[in-house]
Amino acid sequence: MNSSSSERRYFDWAATAPFHKEASIEGITGNPSSIHSEGKTARKILEDARLRCANVLGVKPETLYFTSGGTESNNIVLYSSLKRTGKGRVLYSEVEHPSIRDNCAVLERLGVPVGGIGVNKDGRVTEETLRRTLEKYTDARYAAIMAANNETGALMDMSGLAKVIRKKEPPVHLHCDLVQAIGKIPVDIPGWDLDSASISAHKIGGPAGIGLLYLRKPLEPLFTGAQERGIRPGTENIAGAVSLADALEKRALSAVVSMETALAEERWTFLLKQLKKITRCILIPEDRTECDPRFSPWILQARFRGVPGEVMLRALDSEGFAISTGSACSSAHRERPVLKAMGLDQNAILEGVRISQGWTTTMDDINALINGIEKVLGFL
Ligand code: PLP
Repeated sequence: MNSSSSERRYFDWAATAPFHKEASIEGITGNPSSIHSEGKTARKILEDARLRCANVLGVKPETLYFTSGGTESNNIVLYSSLKRTGKGRVLYSEVEHPSIRDNCAVLERLGVPVGGIGVNKDGRVTEETLRRTLEKYTDARYAAIMAANNETGALMDMSGLAKVIRKKEPPVHLHCDLVQAIGKIPVDIPGWDLDSASISAHKIGGPAGIGLLYLRKPLEPLFTGAQERGIRPGTENIAGAVSLADALEKRALSAVVSMETALAEERWTFLLKQLKKITRCILIPEDRTECDPRFSPWILQARFRGVPGEVMLRALDSEGFAISTGSACSSAHRERPVLKAMGLDQNAILEGVRISQGWTTTMDDINALINGIEKVLGFL
């Protein structure tokens, strides 16, 4: 790509995937809580959407609650701890999205004990670390561990971690943020033995502002209302729910995920190989291999020696490429708790950038990005 080109190449899919309106409904009149015919029609559309989502996810429709997205789903679970007598400790992996990590800090200020679950240099929670954390915090009642990290793509072995959690008495509620996993890696909510999970539509081609909370058993939410069986107050977003069902059917069925993941792996293997040839480029973690089963093939974190991440982002932006530093939700802050938890020093943290791809990313985009990186490194 040359600098005069106005063509844009998008490498920030982990922040939001491009939205293509495909909702199979138009003109909803009723409120699903009304008992007249229009209300019943609206209710039917909503429940059909729930059933379609449940079929894709392999769970019962009554375990799914529509929310505004991943952040709200995470919040509903975390803040339910305030309603619990005895306020058991809330554990969270130190690489969680800000919607978990920052709210654990709020919970702590509100008197709920919290505790971090550390990660290895590769940003993953090991069974051993989890076991030790549970031994240390005998009062733990919740543990939030994400399936795929939004900054590095690190994948957690959820079923192995769940087995460790299940040995704990009294029981610990296992919550899993699936936002970067759904549609990107094979996900098995019942097989992973999760108690709750969060899903967001805008990472898989649906609109922002709609998501799902999976709850194996209902919990007592902080905010109350009649909708969504008392779990999520507010008149339901029916158009959003149908769009989410469309997006899940299009992107998250297991056959689609395995096909798209294989293609994503091919592109990422090539990109990682090329990045390794750039002497100033250091992958995060440094030992990430080209087709590394520890990481999602949709996201990578890297740094370019001597170039602050923000400078790299702006330079590439002016060349037509969208990448990011950290999660979009924390891009206003300079802190990078995920990289810090992985043991990186301040210099490395300042230089970290995230590159993420999606299902319309092409080899041509990857080649152009490599050329773009080499070009900007020439003057940075
Ligand atoms: N969890 C993870 C891992 C994410 O990457 C994001 C969004 O970046 C969220 C939660 C928040 O989801 P939403 O934007 O739907 O609130």
